[in-house]
Amino acid sequence: MRASPAQQAIHLVLLGPPGCGKSTIAPPLAGRHHLLIIATGQQLRAEVERGTALGRAAAPYLEGGELVPDDLINQLMRDQLGALAPSQGLLLDGYPRTVWQARALDELLADVGRALDAVIDLELAPEETLRRLSGRRICEHAGEPFPLHIDDHEAVARCHALGGSIVQRDDDQPEVVRQRLEVYHHETEPLIAFYRERGLLRPVDASGSPAEVTRRVENMLSYR
Ligand code: AMP
Repeated sequence: MRASPAQQAIHLVLLGPPGCGKSTIAPPLAGRHHLLIIATGQQLRAEVERGTALGRAAAPYLEGGELVPDDLINQLMRDQLGALAPSQGLLLDGYPRTVWQARALDELLADVGRALDAVIDLELAPEETLRRLSGRRICEHAGEPFPLHIDDHEAVARCHALGGSIVQRDDDQPEVVRQRLEVYHHETEPLIAFYRERGLLRPVDASGSPAEVTRRVENMLSYR
């Protein structure tokens, strides 16, 4: 029997501490596997910038490096999943972040006839996580903004050549970074055991360049 497009579509979670590279590797993976990216952090920042009701409610949590309340996140997810095309898979970046959210996700996916296929756990040593976060910047220019590390001279030059400016996310300030890492440790790390018990966890070494990490993830997906 031939599988329907929805059955072939894959549904993945990118898990890992802030700065492990989730949002950097998401676009190439999504492009190759026809996945809808849902990046809750990016969407919340956009809502804050637009000054919507959701943005106003979420702003204090983002500023303090705290998690936005589950009911707001749940609504955001429900709206997005409703827009998933039948042939499209899913790549979740920054969600779920708590065991409560992981259980809610199972229900949200079941409601649209989907289920998770794998949770990619991007493993990175704490020192490297800190190094990446403290040097993380965004190049804002006329086109799509792109992330860069302040020590990456080539990327910095590319940004300048585009006439762009290099900015730092407000929540990448050192005191907020510390809080986000704490929150990750207490609220999100328990998801590693949660998904391991369900046989869905796929650890991937997140050190090295984005191209290397993407290749490791692709390798893992081909043996799934
Ligand atoms: P990120 O861009 O994934 O690092 O997320 C930035 C910020 O958005 C986090 O520090 C939280 O304040 C908020 N956020 C993003 N995703 C979630 C989520 N799934 N649950 C609660 N808060 C979130």
